[in-house]
Amino acid sequence: MKPRVYIETFGCQMNVADSERAATGLRASGYDLCKSIDEADVVLLNTCSVREKAERKVYTRIGEVRAARSGKQDLLVGVMGCVAQLEGEAIFDHASSVNMVIGTRATDRIPTLIERARDGQRRVIDLGERGEHDVWDVSPVERHSPHVAFIPIIEGCNKFCSFCIVPYSRGRERSRPASEIIAETRRLQALGYKEIHLIGQNVNSYRPRVEDGLEGFPGATSFCRLLRAVAATGMPRIKFTTSFPRDFHPDIVSAIEENPNLCDWIHLPVQSGSDRILKLMRRGHKRSDYLDRIQRIKKSRRRMALTSDIIVGFPGETEEDFQQTVELVKECEYDSLYIFKYSKRAGTPAASFHDTVPESEKTVRFLELEKVQRAAQIKIYQSYVGRTLSVLVEGQSSRSDDDLTGHSTCHKVVNFKGDQSLEGEIVDVLVTAAKTNSLYGTLVSGAAVG
Ligand code: SAM
Repeated sequence: MKPRVYIETFGCQMNVADSERAATGLRASGYDLCKSIDEADVVLLNTCSVREKAERKVYTRIGEVRAARSGKQDLLVGVMGCVAQLEGEAIFDHASSVNMVIGTRATDRIPTLIERARDGQRRVIDLGERGEHDVWDVSPVERHSPHVAFIPIIEGCNKFCSFCIVPYSRGRERSRPASEIIAETRRLQALGYKEIHLIGQNVNSYRPRVEDGLEGFPGATSFCRLLRAVAATGMPRIKFTTSFPRDFHPDIVSAIEENPNLCDWIHLPVQSGSDRILKLMRRGHKRSDYLDRIQRIKKSRRRMALTSDIIVGFPGETEEDFQQTVELVKECEYDSLYIFKYSKRAGTPAASFHDTVPESEKTVRFLELEKVQRAAQIKIYQSYVGRTLSVLVEGQSSRSDDDLTGHSTCHKVVNFKGDQSLEGEIVDVLVTAAKTNSLYGTLVSGAAVG
């Protein structure tokens, strides 16, 4: 019988995409993938290190895996992803049951690393760079959904924001040739996928070394050209995340206006509304630069959903700085907001800043901002009542057996009554009620307005 591998994924979409890629390589090398620890001969934990809490979770999980399989002495355990890249050898010292440490660029070498561990080598580790001929192909069987697919277009980060660990865990920015991205989009379309997400830490910093695939597509930046080139494939719905404010060219909005299949949702993390804090964060943009970009999005003839990330309690953040963030959040009227309490990451510049904001104050600010956002969000969600949205049906709702669930083009969760046979279809739903984080509606026929 083939050895079975169980992969558990934590963190962002890039980790989901890496796990899909790892699974593809493993199956091609003769492994079977399984859906639970109980069946597995090898357990791989694909980890996240963006905040301390996420990192701590890994060690708890390693303990749980061992406890669950205490009778199976030959079970192999590997830590992959960002924690592996950052902690390296130290993981073996903290958790003696770990056999393999697999860095963020070693995805394609996992089958060989498992072989070495199976041959009895202790402490197998690979923190190396990507190989020259690494493949990005993902088999449809390994995709997280049969309807929505993630396509990485850029990996790594060159921004070095003072709070962020990503440049250290994922290395420098590296863009995939557009020809590969377009070919993958076409393959997914032929397989019946209705939606793709172009993903990367900073998608709009996309800068491939070669022109291939972009010829004939105009645009102010390579990313704008890529958007137009991918839209031309006819893939029904195209979303992209995350955008970096400094590199957000207004031509992105123009490309969306020209192409109905480029979805009406933009995720543009601002992190803070205070210029003083933005400078300490080394974001490379001011509050006014950010608001200029938001103005262009809001003035678009297409109504676009806008989402963002905020960090509260960054070292040195005063009440006045925080209130500037509150004001910015009110002004931007985000459709949704991810709020994080600042978490000190060893090795980042901000780790040496004097952390003046006590944990209790971070919680107070978190809750205040959450309240402000919730009030704005309720109004925004209410404004969808009576509108018809185009919804990709992704499956049954977890809340009710009678309801189907999916996302609109503006990336809202929409639930409605319908037959399971609609799964994978794009349907029109008339919104009849709004909750804080989702919409409820009834299935209608006729054209959707996005
Ligand atoms: N590259 C994007 C950007 O910075 O615009 C986002 C990438 S990051 C993986 C996702 C979010 O996690 C960030 O936007 C930020 O709000 C949050 N984050 C990153 N480092 C953090 C830290 N040290 N403490 C708290 N939140 C953090």
